[in-house]
Amino acid sequence: MYILYEVADRIATITLNRPEAANAQNMELLDELDAAWTRAATDDEVAVIILRAEGKHFSAGHDLKGPGKPAKLTLEAIYQVEARRYLEYSLRWRNVPKPSIAAVQGRCIAGALLLCWPCDLIIAAEDALFSDPVVAMGIGGVEYHGHTWELGPRKAKEILFTGRALTAQEAEQVGMVNRVVPRAALDTETRALAAHIATMPSFGLRQAKRAVNQTLDVQGFYAAIQSVFDVHQTGHGNALSVSGLPVLVNLDQMKTKIRSNNDQQEEQ
Ligand code: ZN
Repeated sequence: MYILYEVADRIATITLNRPEAANAQNMELLDELDAAWTRAATDDEVAVIILRAEGKHFSAGHDLKGPGKPAKLTLEAIYQVEARRYLEYSLRWRNVPKPSIAAVQGRCIAGALLLCWPCDLIIAAEDALFSDPVVAMGIGGVEYHGHTWELGPRKAKEILFTGRALTAQEAEQVGMVNRVVPRAALDTETRALAAHIATMPSFGLRQAKRAVNQTLDVQGFYAAIQSVFDVHQTGHGNALSVSGLPVLVNLDQMKTKIRSNNDQQEEQ
C-alpha cells in the first residue's frame, strides 16, 4: 500500500506513503493515488481533500521501475503510459468538483509537481523546494505543463533552463503557493484550512472552483496542457532516436549535477 486514505470531519486525507523512497511514484502508487482521489470525489461525506506525504520529502518524482512501465521502448508505448498516468490523472484530479489542498515539504521534484499542481491550494513547509530538472535529460519539462500557468513565463523558463529549485518563499511570491508555514506546523495548518473550507456550502465551493478553472480553460489552459504534452513526447522521441532510451542520460552526471545544485541551495 503506497497510499493511505482516511476520512474525518468531512475531510479526506490522502497520504503518499513511500517515505523510504522519498515517495517516488511507481505505477502502482499512481494507480492507488488515482483510486483514492476517485473515492474522495464520489463520497458525499467528503467536502475537502488533503494531499500530503509521509516523511522528509513530498516526492522525488517518477520511478520508472516495476510493473506498469512501458512494455517496449517505443514512443507509442511511452506515450500510452504517460498519457494515462501523467496527463489524464493530473487533469482528473484538477477537475474533482471539491476543494483540494496539497501540503508540501522537502523535495518536490519533476513528476511531484504533477501531484501538487492539480490541487486547488498549496501549503508549503519552509523547507519545500520545487524543481523540474528534466531539461538535463534532453526533455523540455515534465508531462503536465503547469509551469507557465503557475510561475509566469519568465520564472518558468528560468527554472526549466537552469534546473534549479524554487524555494517555498519564491513559490509563494509568484503565487504558486498559498502560504508558507514551519515544517512542524504543516499538517495542523493544512487541516485548519481544510476544516474552515469544509464549513462552506458544497455547491458554492464547487461553483467557485469551476469559475476559476473555467476561466483558465477559456484562456487556453486545457488546450495548452494537451499540446505541451505532445511537445514533451518529442523529447522522448529524440532521446529514443539518439540513444535508444526515453531520456538522454548520463545518469551519473545528472545525479552529480542535481546533487551539486541541491547542495548549493542548502548552503544558502
Ligand atoms: Zn515523459
